[in-house]
Amino acid sequence: MHVHVDGARIFSGIAELKVDPSEVLKECSSATFCLSKGLCAPVGSIIVGDSDFIARVKINRKIMGGHMRKAGVVANTGLIALKKMRF
Ligand SMILES: *Cc1c(COP(=O)(O)O)cnc(C)c1O
Repeated sequence: MHVHVDGARIFSGIAELKVDPSEVLKECSSATFCLSKGLCAPVGSIIVGDSDFIARVKINRKIMGGHMRKAGVVANTGLIALKKMRF
């Protein structure tokens, strides 16, 4: 069974519980989380899962028009959030 976690605010919980994100998500197949909730990035979300799942996500994103020009500028703020924010 595929188990997806809507982890939009998961980093707030992780900060409170002081556990590793991989520990919290170890029983899950996929998850999403916001870079702007608990990680201080201005915008952005991440979806994680195995390569087959991500391939399907990319197709569905394209079908639904989920594209953003010049996304690298905001993506960099997300990378800094993931690398520098303590959790
Ligand atoms: C904010 C929020 C979302 C929306 O997340 P986005 O990645 O910004 O679309 C979904 N679920 C919950 C519980 C949220 O708090």
